[in-house]
Parts: sequence; structure tokens; C-alpha cells
Amino acid sequence: MYGDFSVELDLKSENKTVQANEQGVSYESESHSQQLNEVSEEEKPEVEVQRSQEELIAECSTLDELKDLCEQAEELKTDLEGTNLVFGVGNPNADLMIVGEAPGYNEDQQGEPFVGQAGQLLDKIMAAIHFERSDIYIANILKHRPPDNRDPEPEERERSLPYLLKQIELIDPKLILCVGRISATTLLEKETSLGKLRGSFHEYHGRELMVTYHPAALLYNQKYKRPTWEDVQLLRKRYDELGGQP
Ligand code: URA
Repeated sequence: MYGDFSVELDLKSENKTVQANEQGVSYESESHSQQLNEVSEEEKPEVEVQRSQEELIAECSTLDELKDLCEQAEELKTDLEGTNLVFGVGNPNADLMIVGEAPGYNEDQQGEPFVGQAGQLLDKIMAAIHFERSDIYIANILKHRPPDNRDPEPEERERSLPYLLKQIELIDPKLILCVGRISATTLLEKETSLGKLRGSFHEYHGRELMVTYHPAALLYNQKYKRPTWEDVQLLRKRYDELGGQP
């Protein structure tokens, strides 16, 4: 209808000609069209793929990677501003992992779990069953200190749990010892008293988990010493039966 108004255009860069007509632009040279499609890696526009925290956690294959992720994770923070991450400490290949509740003042200052008074008592309890702190791995349900050392809120525990579960998976301990009710009820997902949970092993994602009193409770009440001593003796026995190292 418009007659043949094809025009010849010079492509500056390649000195190739294209034919323009009412159907659009067609390239004379196939190889040139291929070249245009082949965009080098540097020229490709960056497509930002937003991945969920769940996916980012799943992608971590080392404790260092998980720690870096925790450093960035706003959802691990409590409403106390300016706290430090208390990720965990100890032997990354430990066969025994201890899980406490949340960092306190000293732990926040030093970025390490169980370094205050309760932590010193925990070291003594472990020494009594022939563990050095460096033999085991220690972490908490929360990775940041709550204000006034209050109990972690259910939603704080829920937000922190996927990170701890990944930490457990990476360490792959044979045994887990939960100290205190918060730790035990969060991992076992059972709202019951510590007295009912202690004294035996629980199956936990293919591992064995024991519950005992929090060392801070022992500092305030002598009556918890004996049951704690019984629990940790059982724990040591089971550790040896399972071939725990060292
Ligand atoms: N109590 C805990 O549960 N964890 C710590 O790290 C210190 C005290």
C-alpha cells in the first residue's frame, strides 16, 4: 500500500545494513543478529532476586556463613537497642551442644554465651562430668539480649528458632542439653514444666535431647543441685555409649 519504501540504514558500529519497511526492521546479517543477542556478562543488567530469610538460612553451608547472616538479621534483635550478636561458641564439631535461653549483660558485652556467673557455674558442672568448654558447643535460643533480662517472648523465640535449627544441623551433635524451661519448651514445642521434661532423653530430629535446670536457678536455689547432678551424669553416660568425641 505504501509501495516499497525500504531504506538502507548504516549501522554505525558494525557497518552492516538493515532493511526497514512497514513490517519493521530485519537484519540482513544473521551473524550480526546473533551478535546482538549475545550480551556479554558485564553488559547484562543485574537482576536482583529477593530471597527469603528461609532460603538464605538454607543456603548457609558453614557456621561462618550462618554467623554473617545472623549479623544482618533484624528479626533476631529484641527491643533493646544496640545489642551485640551472641552467636555461639565452642567446638564446631562437638558431639554435645548446650542450648540456653538468651544472653545477659556480660554475654552481650563479650559476644559470647554463658560468660557471667551462671556461665561459670555451667563450666563447673561440665568439668564435673569431664568436659572442657572447648569440647562442647554452646548457644542460646535468642541471639540478642532482651531488655532487663526478661524471658524471651514467644514471637522472639519463633523468629530466632530457624537460625538455631540451622546451627544445630551444621554442628550435628549427637546430644543436646537444654538448660532451663525456655530452652526446653522452645525446642520440644511443649509448654510443660521443667520437672516433667528432665530426667530422660527426648527424640529430637534424629538426635537425643536432655533437659535440666538452668545454672542460674542453681545459684538461687540449692534444691536444684541434686537433680541437675543426676541429669548430667546420665548425659555423660549416654555420650560415652554413643561414642561421643572427645
Ligand atoms: N543465661 C543463658 O541462658 N544464656 C546465656 O548466655 C547466659 C545466661
